[in-house]
Amino acid sequence: MTIPGFTQLEKLPRVHLAHLPTPVEPLPNLSKHLGGPELWIKRDDQTGLATGGNKARKLEFLMAEALEARADTVITAGSTQSNHARQTAAGAARLGLGCHLVLYAPEGKAPQHATGNVLLDELLGAVIHWTDEHAPFTETLARVSGELKAQGKTAHLIPYGGSNPVGMMGFVTAVLELAGQEAITGPLDAVAYASSSGGTQSGMILGAHMAGWLGRVRLVGISVDEHEKILAERVAGLVNGGAALLGLDWRIKDDVPEVVDSYLGGGYAVVGDPEREALRLLARHEGILADPVYTGRALAGLIDLIRLGEFKAGQRVLFWHTGGSAALFAFGDALGL
Ligand SMILES: *Cc1c(COP(=O)(O)O)cnc(C)c1O
Repeated sequence: MTIPGFTQLEKLPRVHLAHLPTPVEPLPNLSKHLGGPELWIKRDDQTGLATGGNKARKLEFLMAEALEARADTVITAGSTQSNHARQTAAGAARLGLGCHLVLYAPEGKAPQHATGNVLLDELLGAVIHWTDEHAPFTETLARVSGELKAQGKTAHLIPYGGSNPVGMMGFVTAVLELAGQEAITGPLDAVAYASSSGGTQSGMILGAHMAGWLGRVRLVGISVDEHEKILAERVAGLVNGGAALLGLDWRIKDDVPEVVDSYLGGGYAVVGDPEREALRLLARHEGILADPVYTGRALAGLIDLIRLGEFKAGQRVLFWHTGGSAALFAFGDALGL
């Protein structure tokens, strides 16, 4: 079978950073507990790069671009407990690049105690610039870039969440990887995952198109912080940007990105009862750690969809674990632990 766009995908610059392929594993105990579909999990919490996560896949392409640009420093931005920032710091350390992180905190002040991802950012040698500016952090990023340039550095900007047509290629390759693993899982009916800056979801959709999955496997992006219309539009734009990058004429139909925005709860990183329940269920039935911000919320959404009968016995549903458990240590109080 020839995969459309595959030759172009193989030609893109890429550095090896992630432990791939990540395993797929059954979730027999959680499946039994919920009494619904047969559940599987894709262990992208095991991609390596300083405790794993989905950003390692994007960074293989984004860091290669930085090296091609002969950068000596990378800059990126995120929230206080950004997994993307931590994995960027780890990738930069591995490749011998400097790393500057623009991180959001209330009043632009560093938290009193460096914990979770912040502790790891510091351990990995990243320079942190605290800001109270929200995404996309335009002003602060411009200021930090200017300062680095004045110091004679060649800085390369990695986008928020690693989500642009280059970064999303990490998830195009990820879906092709999973398509091969259907030999282990059996044919999948649906894949559910946390969606935020859009790179993961758009890469999955483009990869699904290339793998011939669209229309057969339902790809359910559970939004952690954005309303459906905004995120679906962002995802569609990225899908088309990625298709163009691979020289494909195919463009996405507007109704393809499935974004579920019913589980936004109290907002980004606000842990509620659904997240607490999902984290405990996965930990106590399967011995697997989810994270409080992304995978805990997405799993809570999937569990609710199962309880609502959206996914039923006889179906096979894979939860894509996108990582983030390093943030757990910063959320002890919110988890009641
Ligand atoms: C960034 C992140 C996501 C969301 O991925 P996007 O590509 O930004 O949509 C999901 N889970 C975890 C743990 C993340 O760090």
